[in-house]
Amino acid sequence: MPFLFLSDMNDRLRLAIQKSGRLSDDTIDLLTACGINISKPDRKLRALSEHFNLEVLFLRDDDIPGYVADGVADAGIVGENVILEKNKPVDIMERLGFAKCRLSIALPQTVDYRSVKDLNGLHIATSYPGLLGRYFESNGVKASIHEISGSVEIAPGIGLADGICDIVSSGSTLISNGLREVEVVTKSEAVLIAAPTITAEKRARLDRMCFRIQSVLKAKQHRYILMNVPNESIDEVIKLLPGMKAPTVMPLATQGWSSVHSVIPENTFWDVIESLKSVGAEGMLVVPIEKMVL
Ligand code: ATP
Ligand code: ZN
Repeated sequence: MPFLFLSDMNDRLRLAIQKSGRLSDDTIDLLTACGINISKPDRKLRALSEHFNLEVLFLRDDDIPGYVADGVADAGIVGENVILEKNKPVDIMERLGFAKCRLSIALPQTVDYRSVKDLNGLHIATSYPGLLGRYFESNGVKASIHEISGSVEIAPGIGLADGICDIVSSGSTLISNGLREVEVVTKSEAVLIAAPTITAEKRARLDRMCFRIQSVLKAKQHRYILMNVPNESIDEVIKLLPGMKAPTVMPLATQGWSSVHSVIPENTFWDVIESLKSVGAEGMLVVPIEKMVL
């Protein structure tokens, strides 16, 4: 696609993202939260974001590792599974916490399976021949791989293969096709990658983007909590709060009571709330945080 090279003369940072698919909405939402506004592509393959002097290329996810490795794009956002499959030399800058899934081997529910040795001699359909081949090699499995590009899950049902190796998230697609997940080949999430040949100037700009991404991701993983606490319980409440440094404690208009504010991790949220309640905290408010800069 020669037109991609036409604007090589300017020093805009070029970011490759998926045009449409499971990564595209979350990618655009993340960039927007970082103050980088781009509109969703219709038929266009490129867009400019004046906010960050950024040029966005909308591509198929499979092409992103290659474009970044070759330096046509300076950076990209793509699933780790695709990077591992393409096996291109790119630097992983940041794990982005969305498009979480696993690449797994699944066999018909009726097949008896005890260990990876039971894969020997089987014929497995997949869109990930590179990753699966390396998995077989490192586990000493002698099985054959049938590469297909889509609807992998129906392969055993139509007699094309003994099993499959495909992306799984909840597992419901496997179950509805009479399959059972037997091995996880790799886990994956969306990542920000950079070209190994990126210039120092563009690298510095990408580092600024990473800083913004980290602030957004940290904020998503935390909640701001406000509560009323009888003064005699403040010490116990403080012990339960991880906080950033120390919680804020302010007197309430009602004598003997204080308002305590802190930041708690999202994943421990309910446990912390229950413990706080049990030591006398009440009137708790929990609010989302937009950005978190430490
Ligand atoms: P393209 O048209 O760009 O080639 P595609 O059809 O190959 O797209 P998608 O189905 O949009 O790919 O998936 C993109 C990425 O999203 C996958 O490579 C994987 O990292 C992740 N992904 C796929 N399925 C799921 C899922 N069920 N849950 C979470 N993440 C997923
Ligand atoms: Zn794809």
